[in-house]
Amino acid sequence: MRPRASFGEANSFDRRRALSTLLWADLVGVALSASGPASAGATYTAPLPEDEHFMRMAIAEAARGDMPFGAVIVRDGQVVSTGRNLGRTNNDPTAHGEMEAIRRFVASRPAAELQGTTLYTSGEPCPMCMGAILWCGIGRVVFAASIDELATKLGQIMLSSREVANAAPFAKVAITGGVLAAEALALFPA
Ligand SMILES: [Zn+2]
Repeated sequence: MRPRASFGEANSFDRRRALSTLLWADLVGVALSASGPASAGATYTAPLPEDEHFMRMAIAEAARGDMPFGAVIVRDGQVVSTGRNLGRTNNDPTAHGEMEAIRRFVASRPAAELQGTTLYTSGEPCPMCMGAILWCGIGRVVFAASIDELATKLGQIMLSSREVANAAPFAKVAITGGVLAAEALALFPA
């Protein structure tokens, strides 16, 4: 083996070690800020620059729903599915925006392609939708209004998306909340 190659490997190892130290620091920071166990399934992450763009699309879906809830699924920067509440239209109380976006996706594409996608939703996922998100391996959830905020408008099952994710040992999901929450809440009658 050439000396130069082995130097490169050593350098690469140092970089990996430095990177893992940084990641560990991030994990500690997340665990402290989320005040949950470091081994939990969910981590809270800060909004990304593109989040408002996709959330506006989810809120536009919500504005067309039977109830004002909408969702979009994004993969590699592209919207790959959309959904809005169709509870009345479909005579189906499970037709929440997130469920509809997932169902529309798997109607035409392999479910495995949901893994690592980001789901934007105008309202924090209820336990049913969060369970579906975890079963599908969706990697990140971005919501606008929290369950606590939604509960001021209509009845909610009072379990946060983080609590549901943390109860699923197999799950690893990043959660970002509060993106355009005021816009999402403004869709409800005053
Ligand atoms: Zn739901």
